[in-house]
Amino acid sequence: MGLLCNQRKKSSFFFLFFKPPQIFVLLGVLLSIHFHSTFGLKVLQLNKTKSSFKIAIFADLHFGENSWSNWGPKQDVNSVKSMSSILHHENPDFVVYLGDVVTANNIPIANASLYWDQATSPTRDRGIPWASVFGNHDDAHFVWPKEWFSKQGIPPLRCSPSNSTLIGDGNCSFMGTTRLDLMNYELGNGTLSFSQHGPKNLWPSVSNYVLQISSSENPESPVAFMYFLDSGGGSYPEVISSAQAQWLKGISNEINPDFRVPEIFFWHIPSKAYQKAAPWLFFVPQPCVGSINKERVCTQESEAGIMKVLQDRPSVQAVFVGHDHGNDWCCPYKKLWLCYARHTGYGGYGNWARGARILEIADQPFTLKSWIRMEDGFVHSHILLSSRPVSSSSIFLVLVLVLVLFFGIKSFYPASAHLISKAKAFISPTAL
Ligand SMILES: [Zn+2]
Repeated sequence: MGLLCNQRKKSSFFFLFFKPPQIFVLLGVLLSIHFHSTFGLKVLQLNKTKSSFKIAIFADLHFGENSWSNWGPKQDVNSVKSMSSILHHENPDFVVYLGDVVTANNIPIANASLYWDQATSPTRDRGIPWASVFGNHDDAHFVWPKEWFSKQGIPPLRCSPSNSTLIGDGNCSFMGTTRLDLMNYELGNGTLSFSQHGPKNLWPSVSNYVLQISSSENPESPVAFMYFLDSGGGSYPEVISSAQAQWLKGISNEINPDFRVPEIFFWHIPSKAYQKAAPWLFFVPQPCVGSINKERVCTQESEAGIMKVLQDRPSVQAVFVGHDHGNDWCCPYKKLWLCYARHTGYGGYGNWARGARILEIADQPFTLKSWIRMEDGFVHSHILLSSRPVSSSSIFLVLVLVLVLFFGIKSFYPASAHLISKAKAFISPTAL
């Protein structure tokens, strides 16, 4: 597991057991645990023994569905099993919760943090640090199910009885737990979360922040930057705003002005560029890599400049999104990779087998490998994302060139020669 830098540990009684030289070693460890980068970013470090850093991406868990029936809670139990199996097989250093952690529009209680807590429990229980971004379901308003108002339907839960002294005076609005409330709960519930509130001027878009991955030897030496962005939805439009794009431009220029450090991005809803990059077919042909392409890309409502900022940064390696449960591909777009994660949870639509995209970052030279680990342990879709992608148009041109060279020499040229001699005969029959 990567070294934590915001983990708080009590150390006073250590002095009773250790002599000065040992104390300095221990102090060094403790200081590095609290380390923040020069720019105040929270720092994670490459695993010392493996010299790498492994991330599991959990996408679209959708906890809290249909709590009034057996079906919903059963899905949540299955989602915990799915995450536990992936954590068991991969033993990652870090987990990214890629949005739609809960289905708030299906949760008839005032505080959805209860379900958020369940969703993060497999990671927290193993002592693995994590970070999260919001999806379009996380803070949505409760939508009353139609069947509750059918002939035989007596709503099993009409109003929250909490804080209600008068009959019929309960809280029936269930306006969803706000992004800030969910984030405050996550951050207040232990020190393993690396999530942040993001700059206030971007609110209600909350999960906007950067984490630094540093070398195993030197916490001040960045190996990669991980950017997390809130792609909206739920209580406000599904968009990465121009204000977010400007914020990203500013902070990335500040911390990585010469593009020396590779950068990767996480948000929930695909940007419009995903539509352009998507495979044309129902399977996933080269140069894309993946196992399912079962859905059309469902994008953010508009594009307000985020992709332009990314395209202008040669340090950007890849973007990872969730949202479309039936897709798990990575495809090239310009000079970077656009990737889906893999539907991890049993909540939400679709019955495609559950899994998680795994990332592995190594240093000297920098490499970013990825694959998909299924719940049953099967592994597929290996890809090297630190290699510059070859676009499909380039592949098409190479293919045409190969065909021309091969068939041109063998058949095209003799055919042409034959036609030319025929033409000569037509113009001047005596010449033959
Ligand atoms: Zn979803």
